[in-house]
Amino acid sequence: MDNEFQDIGLTCVRRCSTFTWTASQQEFFSRKGLVQPRRCPACRAIRRQEHEQANEHEREAAGQP
Ligand SMILES: [Zn+2]
Repeated sequence: MDNEFQDIGLTCVRRCSTFTWTASQQEFFSRKGLVQPRRCPACRAIRRQEHEQANEHEREAAGQP
């Protein structure tokens, strides 16, 4: 099986920047059965932070009497 990946230049879905989706990332994504990323690393980090904050908020709310 020929599974040659090459670096691809992608544009962030929010059009804030372009980023390189490297061959090794593509291999990783394909192994995990994931589709190609739509956000640049910066937007992904922001999203992750928002997600963590939301989780924290939930924990706080649950911990309140
Ligand atoms: Zn972005």
